[in-house]
Amino acid sequence: MTLPLSPEQISRAAHQHQHELVAFTQKLIQTPSLPGNETEIAALVQTELQRLGYDDVTTDSFGNVIGHIKGGSAPSLMFNGHLDHVATGDPTGWQYPPHSGALVDGAIWGRGAVDMKGPLACMLYAPAIIKKMGIAPPGDIFLAAPVMEEVGGVGTTHLATHFRTDVAIVGEPSHNTLRRGHRGRVELWITFRGKSIHASVPHLGINPHFSLAEFLRNLRSLPMVRDATFGGSNVTPTLIQTDQTSPNVTPGEIRLTLDWRNAPSESPTDILAKVQAILQKSLLDGATGSVELATRPFTTYTGQTVEQSAVFPSFELPGDNPLVRQAQQTLTGALGFEMPVDVWQFATDGGHLMAAGIPTLGFGPGDETLAHTNREHIMVADMLTALRGYIALALIEWETAR
Ligand SMILES: [Zn+2]
Repeated sequence: MTLPLSPEQISRAAHQHQHELVAFTQKLIQTPSLPGNETEIAALVQTELQRLGYDDVTTDSFGNVIGHIKGGSAPSLMFNGHLDHVATGDPTGWQYPPHSGALVDGAIWGRGAVDMKGPLACMLYAPAIIKKMGIAPPGDIFLAAPVMEEVGGVGTTHLATHFRTDVAIVGEPSHNTLRRGHRGRVELWITFRGKSIHASVPHLGINPHFSLAEFLRNLRSLPMVRDATFGGSNVTPTLIQTDQTSPNVTPGEIRLTLDWRNAPSESPTDILAKVQAILQKSLLDGATGSVELATRPFTTYTGQTVEQSAVFPSFELPGDNPLVRQAQQTLTGALGFEMPVDVWQFATDGGHLMAAGIPTLGFGPGDETLAHTNREHIMVADMLTALRGYIALALIEWETAR
């Protein structure tokens, strides 16, 4: 498989754009974009896509920004990089202000530097550089910058309902190594219902605390799915809420939140069935109970409100999948080192894309362990390596059934 550009040509083109790329990444970091508040950054990204010569720039009803560079008749490719970021926390805990985009010793600092404004900038530049060099990619290339990834992938879930490509690349940080999947996250609410009563006469009520205790005991001894690649599933209880505020009244209802990280071999349906089974054997004294997926309403900056369950699907492309093999060979050739293939420890929008039937790979610059911390920064050198990788990936004629 030969690309229309040599590794040297790709490297030269990437380095020629270093200054612009760094300046744009700094601008992205200097534009705060909490989930639901992406108005300003969406406009910034649209303007840059237009400036760089994208053939089409659109925004859908949820505010996801999509840039298009026309290619040939081969399968199409989507680069996917979310616009939002998590909160900065206490700004005094940062070495450089969280929205400064400070460039110090070859690193760009600030919230979103690795997760994922630095990667987004690299993905956005790659197809534009190819076009500028007068090369048409084998298939259409799309740059998708979705909203609200950090609160459950509201943007990409919507995007995948109306916008399809043949292959997707999610640019979450991966130390410039290839990723072919990750575990999922399922948030569950377990409700225990009894009969509230004054604490002086507890025998006249049904106290759901005892069923909750029994449930937690059973949960702890529940066998978990094991998986050598993904490290298996795990579950842990997080929040407890009751319907009472007085210390001298027993609760009528208690809600327990479970955070379940599932290996790809275990589906949310499997999880619901397992939890249902242990709930049934945990109910004492006539208490009742139910299990459901946690759901919350979300409103986009464009004013769309959706009720979305807190499920980040897991995904896995097998190691011998042709797309994994093609990407690995191409990146090895373009970057000059044997490209490792691994899985992510966290969940991404890739799960939503795969759930919609779009085969998805991961590749991005930066140290993933810095995401969501007050030490978040990205090395410019890593961004240039990623940019070279994205240029190469955009030139692949993907072997996929359409
Ligand atoms: Zn992210």
